[in-house]
Amino acid sequence: MKNYFSNLSPEIVHLIRMIADEADQRNLSAYLAGGIVRDMILKRKNLDLDIVIGDSTETVASAVAKKTKGKLTVYRQFKTATVLLPKGLRVDFATTRSETYAKPGAMPSVKKGSLADDLFRRDFTINAMGLCINRNQFGVLLDEFDGLRDLRQKKIRVLHKDSFSDDPTRVLRAVRFEQRFRFSIEPTTLGLLKTAVKKNFYKTASAGRYFAEFKKILDEEKPMPALKRLKALKAYGFLGEEEAADIPFLEDISQKIARLKRRKECAENYQWWFIYFLSIVAQNSEKFHKKLLEEFSFTKEQKKDILSLSQWKSILAELSDEQLSRSCVYKRLKEFSFDFVMFLRIVASSKDIVDKIDRYLLKDCRITLFINGHDLQKESGIPGKKIGFILDRVLEQKLDGTVKNKRDEWKAARLLLKQEC
Ligand code: ATP
Repeated sequence: MKNYFSNLSPEIVHLIRMIADEADQRNLSAYLAGGIVRDMILKRKNLDLDIVIGDSTETVASAVAKKTKGKLTVYRQFKTATVLLPKGLRVDFATTRSETYAKPGAMPSVKKGSLADDLFRRDFTINAMGLCINRNQFGVLLDEFDGLRDLRQKKIRVLHKDSFSDDPTRVLRAVRFEQRFRFSIEPTTLGLLKTAVKKNFYKTASAGRYFAEFKKILDEEKPMPALKRLKALKAYGFLGEEEAADIPFLEDISQKIARLKRRKECAENYQWWFIYFLSIVAQNSEKFHKKLLEEFSFTKEQKKDILSLSQWKSILAELSDEQLSRSCVYKRLKEFSFDFVMFLRIVASSKDIVDKIDRYLLKDCRITLFINGHDLQKESGIPGKKIGFILDRVLEQKLDGTVKNKRDEWKAARLLLKQEC
């Protein structure tokens, strides 16, 4: 029997043994299942342990949380629980279940089932293996659908012919795994996938579920191959009627993003998935952008960014003016989120504009004044709104270099106050 656990750190193996003890004490079956088993076989790092248990999930999860000092969250209606461990490891517990779909794309109705049922409800054979962790069968692989064979042959294969109509978001998942692992979608599965796309698969599942899967593609280390594949499969329909994703444009952007992500000052500071998303829909109409806001859920700031897309070319044209002062660049960019400004930097074609945006992102957006509104108000007694206006003007002078120190700031502020009164 192959030991798939040898690729895990001793710490994780210890944790798995401890979870198994809790299940054994209660006479319950316990398996690692899904992506974690696939990644253990592929020797890939995965920090999410998915455990399926015969019953009493909540009891086992809370015992594990107690022993590990982890944070327990229970979702009683789904019979699942999550334990977040202090070191960032996450263990998801679920009771083995079976699922049936009343109609294509509907949320499945779920009931308790065997482990085999639980594996049968999954998307692809490579994600439908279970690895027993109970002491008496530790390491036994449950592989009813030949997932191991498909992993070795690098194939993405559905478990049955209705898989994509049951859950059309699997189209996005198939493409994601195919491109991430450089596997291929095997011919029958590809035929079923193409039929699902042709039949406008996206109309049956909720926009939110598509978006969650699409976001996972955009969060991949290298999203570009999957974005290209989706285009070749004509599978962007879930975003709306217009054709999205201009591939040559995106190729260029993806190379720039890869370079920027390697920079220490950039890597953690931006939501790269969202910058990809802006790039995918940047060339579409304003009407299309408005529709996106109705269909998918975004934060308030992201909504504003999406609506600003209709101006990106004109903003870049404004920034191309060589006479533009530093404070004018600041004023123009300040109204957008950092993600949107980074998007502008990426789509800008001239070095002069890139330099201006870099100066804003790395320096100017952080410049502050020594003086503050409180002091100014105390001195003048004029209303807050006007004080804000004066501070903005002093900051602009500082950016343009005519105000250098605290004394200069006071001098400039007093002059402005005099003009205002
Ligand atoms: P990743 O490495 O991207 O996290 P993963 O396979 O762990 O990949 P998840 O989305 O976390 O992906 O899903 C965990 C498991 O749940 C999958 O391996 C699969 O068995 C099952 N699963 C997830 N989504 C679906 C789906 N839409 N249909 C069927 N099974 C699914």
